[in-house]
Amino acid sequence: MVEIVQNGHKVLREVAKPVDISDITKKKIQKIISDMQIALSTQSDGVAIAAPQIGVSLRIFVVSGKIFDEDFVRNEGLKNKIKPDFKDLIFINPVFIKISKDKKLLTEGCLSVRPLYGKVRRATKATVGAYDEKGKYFEMDGTGLLAHIFQHETDHLDGVLFIDKAKDIHEVIDGERNAEK
Ligand code: ZN
Repeated sequence: MVEIVQNGHKVLREVAKPVDISDITKKKIQKIISDMQIALSTQSDGVAIAAPQIGVSLRIFVVSGKIFDEDFVRNEGLKNKIKPDFKDLIFINPVFIKISKDKKLLTEGCLSVRPLYGKVRRATKATVGAYDEKGKYFEMDGTGLLAHIFQHETDHLDGVLFIDKAKDIHEVIDGERNAEK
């Protein structure tokens, strides 16, 4: 089992190091990516995870393919595009190519800051450039939840947690469910 580290662990406050592109296809990085996917898959409410959350200070995050799943999108009342063949998306050394001036408050939680939730004001649209798990460069546009995920995960890579920016921070033990990152 892969452990998800909790707030208070110093790795969550470090600025993560870039991955050497030529190392992406090597065993060590592939194992880290797979560990992140395993950790994320054990969290029913998890939609994304950054490498520091499993104790690895490298610039990698994974977005669960389930955010493109029809049932998930409907249950969460989202407006994501549905993709029939959803799979996890891997972002290595992500950078923002574009980010909208238009911002919106959205409730978010974090797999490393349980059981807190709060509202964070973030750009409603963002384009990220990154390398995938095969070492291939790509760019992806995100709106709504996906744009918020991009910003929440990139913050993790810079040692920032959502509670540093959130309003109305409150505990949610049971009941109300929200997508967690
Ligand atoms: Zn998080």
